[in-house]
Amino acid sequence: MRFKEQLLTLTPYQPGKSIESVKREYNLKHIVKLASNENPFGCSQQAMAALRENQISLALYPDGYSTLLREKLATFLNVAENELIFGNGSDNLIQMISRALLHPNANTIMADHTFSQYKHNAVIEGAIIKEVPTIDGEHDLEGMLAAIDEKTNVIWVCSPNNPTGTYIPEQKLVSFLDRVPEHTLVVLDEAYYEYVVAEDYYDSISLIRKYQNLIVLRTFSKIYGLAALRVGYGVANPEIIKALEPAREPFNNNSLGQLAAAAAIADQEFVEICKEKNRQGLAQFYDFCHENSLKYYPSQTNFILIDFNVEADQVFQFLLERGFIVRSGKPLGFPTSVRITVGSFEQNEGLLKVLGEFLKDINK
Ligand SMILES: *Cc1c(COP(=O)(O)O)cnc(C)c1O
Repeated sequence: MRFKEQLLTLTPYQPGKSIESVKREYNLKHIVKLASNENPFGCSQQAMAALRENQISLALYPDGYSTLLREKLATFLNVAENELIFGNGSDNLIQMISRALLHPNANTIMADHTFSQYKHNAVIEGAIIKEVPTIDGEHDLEGMLAAIDEKTNVIWVCSPNNPTGTYIPEQKLVSFLDRVPEHTLVVLDEAYYEYVVAEDYYDSISLIRKYQNLIVLRTFSKIYGLAALRVGYGVANPEIIKALEPAREPFNNNSLGQLAAAAAIADQEFVEICKEKNRQGLAQFYDFCHENSLKYYPSQTNFILIDFNVEADQVFQFLLERGFIVRSGKPLGFPTSVRITVGSFEQNEGLLKVLGEFLKDINK
C-alpha cells in the first residue's frame, strides 16, 4: 500500500495516562489526574441539567449547522452567525484549517515549543514547516514575521501558550497582526482564554473585524469542563468561514455536545468561579516554587510548567507511583520540567506535599 510517506514519521498523540490504567498498574485506590488541563470542578450544573432533561434521539444525525449553539454563541460573543465555525473540539478546527490551506507547495510557521497539533497536521498535509524558537517561553513574534514568505499559508499563534502558560500582550499582538501579509492566515488559538487575568490582554473577537486574515479558536474543553463532548469553535470574518466550511465534516458536532455547550454559555457564574479558584490554586503552586527556589513560567492558564532541574520523567514517575498523574515536559520540549494542571485546593495540597517529599529525596 501507499500511505503518505510523512505518516510513517508520525506517532499517534500520546494522551496523559488514564486513571484506570494507573490504578491497575500501581495498585492504587485513589488517583488524581492533573495531566490534560481538564476542569477539576467538572462542568456547569445547567449543562448537566440540559443533558438530563432534553430527549435527544440517538438514532438521528445531529444538527449539522449547530443551530441552537450557534445562536447562543453568536449572541454571547456579539458576532454574526456566519462568523462562527464549529469543530469536534478545537483540534478538529486545526485539522480543517490544515486540510484547507496546507500542501507540499506551501509552508507554515509555528513556535517551538507550542501545542503539538499544529505541526502534526501540517506534517500530514506535507507542508514545509518552519518552527521559530520561543524566547523565555513566549512566542518570538518578530522571528515568526521574519520567517514569512510568499508561500506561507498559515501562521499559528497560541496565546496563552501551551505548555508554558505565557501570553502575548495586546501591543505586541497588534503590531504583529499589522505586519502579517494578507495571504497568510493567522490562527490565534485561545484554548485558555477564559482563564486569563492579565490586564494587557487583547479583545481577540474585535480584532477579527480589523484583520481579514485572522481566525480565533476557542473550546468548551477547558474552563467549561466539557472535554468529553468535543466542542470547539472558530471566529473569523465570513469569507474565511465560508472557505473553510467545505473542509468540515458535515456532522462533526454531536447532539449532546451542542446541547450542553449551549446551556454552558448561559452559566457564566460557573466560569467566573472556576477562574477565581484557578488563580487561588496557582498561588499555591507559586508559593511552593518560591519556597523551594524552583523556576516556573507565570501562567495565564489552568496549568503551570515547573522546572525541577532533574530529568522530567523522574518527577513524573515519583508522582505517578503516589497517585498523581501529571505531564512530563520531556515530549513537550522541556526535558527538566513537568506541566501540572491546577486542581482543587485539596488536590493541589496533596500533590505539593508529594513534590516536597520528592525534593527532600533528591537533596539527600
Ligand atoms: C486543549 C487544547 C486544544 C484542544 O482542545 P479541544 O477543543 O479539546 O480539541 C487546542 N489548543 C490548545 C492550545 C490546547 O491546550
